[in-house]
Amino acid sequence: MKTLTSFLSGTWVAGHGQAALLYNATTEEPIAEASTVGLDFAGALRFARQVGGPALRRLSFAERGQILKRLADAIVAHRDELLLLGMINAGNTRSDAKFDVDGASATFAYYAELCKSLGEAHYLVDGEPIPLGRSSRLSGQHVFCSRTGVAIHINAFNFPAWGLAEKAATAIAAGMPFVTKPATSTALLAHRMFEVMIESGALPEGTAQLVCGGAGDLLDHLTSQDVVAFTGSADTAAKLRGHRRVLAKGVPVNVEADSLNVALLGPDLDSGAPSYDLFLTCVVKELTQKAGQKCTAIRRIFVPTDKVEQVVADLIDRLSIHKVGAPSKDEVTIGPLSTAQQKVDALAGIAKLAAEAKIVFGGPDSLSLHGADPSKGYFVMPTLLVAQSSESLSAVHSHEVFGPVATVIPYTDSAQVVAQIARGEGSLVASIYSDDKSFLQDTVLGLAPYHGRICIGSEKVAGTFIPPGTVMPQLLHGGPGRAGGGTELGGTRGMTLYMQRTALQGFGPFLESLATAGAKLSGGR
Ligand code: NAP
Repeated sequence: MKTLTSFLSGTWVAGHGQAALLYNATTEEPIAEASTVGLDFAGALRFARQVGGPALRRLSFAERGQILKRLADAIVAHRDELLLLGMINAGNTRSDAKFDVDGASATFAYYAELCKSLGEAHYLVDGEPIPLGRSSRLSGQHVFCSRTGVAIHINAFNFPAWGLAEKAATAIAAGMPFVTKPATSTALLAHRMFEVMIESGALPEGTAQLVCGGAGDLLDHLTSQDVVAFTGSADTAAKLRGHRRVLAKGVPVNVEADSLNVALLGPDLDSGAPSYDLFLTCVVKELTQKAGQKCTAIRRIFVPTDKVEQVVADLIDRLSIHKVGAPSKDEVTIGPLSTAQQKVDALAGIAKLAAEAKIVFGGPDSLSLHGADPSKGYFVMPTLLVAQSSESLSAVHSHEVFGPVATVIPYTDSAQVVAQIARGEGSLVASIYSDDKSFLQDTVLGLAPYHGRICIGSEKVAGTFIPPGTVMPQLLHGGPGRAGGGTELGGTRGMTLYMQRTALQGFGPFLESLATAGAKLSGGR
């Protein structure tokens, strides 16, 4: 069995004592173990601050871009090996594993290009000079400079590759060293990808460290220039936010947590319309891809009351084509969930939803597998539920089932549907499908305060639409309320998490010279 080591203070180290086991999600065989007991996290954070930070901050954006490009190339060069690890440990089909691993290399590649376009600057300039007096002698200017601490990245189990990359790329671009901690249960892929990154020789010493296993006392050593970026459950997020060291040192904590993402079908669309077809395609993709274990997967499907019957019939038609089973089999499109605990949680969640909505497809008793032993593995069948009315629902609006599960909910008009969607209390992404401008305007602007991203699917973009579950590095990822209130990615916007915004007041021409030597916050591609 493989022992997953951590990479701290420039050395690969193994913890002692009781190790956590990692399993093959299809066969339940133990495949690796990881422990962090006894590891020196205090020393690792010091190493990052004293060695990695200065090395990275000395480099211009363009030079950091060259590092990111080499990381992207290294991951691409090891693609097949990494895909296999995702298939074994996380239960991904090859296509799902590509979504994770290619997402990682694409994010590094995007930030490489962005950094190149920011040029030889070392800091970002936010906005134009602001006159502070009658003449231009005294003016103000906002700038973002790299924080001098270390970024702690704590990731969820569902994207061992992309989760590591999206946080690492923005931190490196911003000039901040990081310590990344993948979820232990699926760390096999993250561990190998990190090894590949180190072996590439692209990373200056101290800029990247890896924790494989429990977080231990990692957060006890935070200082005021550090940052925490977390993806995972709302429960863990609350613990991190309330950590005494976070509170005492005023450490920023960026959170991506639970989310009850919505697909909304406009009243103008009928079966056969390109935008209706797009709606079905997106819903089925988000329900089935990575067995629904995506923070951006669609959980609630809002449909005009008089179209529910047709939509449910069409969704069942498309879901019936999918095959659940061993991810290594070519015909299989949905693999197992990643861990035993996720299966337990998903089945309990389905039972909760079934108490207020009717299962019309799948469900806990419908297990039918291809190429896999039904007595093993963390399989959950794709499950569609239908509710009678939105107002009577509680769990459907508040409980995220992290698996291939979604509920169709009827609505009457745009004002009612906006109010019902808002009961999710903040989500990462909503997708709206309509060719009716006035419906789009009402719902897009009505839903914007509750969402980090809104995808507008219409006839005009049906051929080029990117499904809502695909996070684009150019655009912000994050959402308000239940979704954690965080923001990641979004080009330079994501980099600002790792930088301090400072208002400068002084002699106008001096500030202008500083502004000229910086890169525009809104610059780049
Ligand atoms: P989790 O249990 O919250 O774990 C997430 C990460 O936090 C893991 O790396 C975990 O490490 C670490 N962690 C746990 N307790 C910690 C502590 N006290 N101090 C420091 N780190 C700690 O979440 P998960 O099991 O990966 O995912 C569960 C749920 O998160 C999902 O069901 C879903 O609802 C949500 N989720 C949301 C998103 C999103 O982007 N919005 C993405 C994925 C998942 P260990 O693995 O070592 O315990």
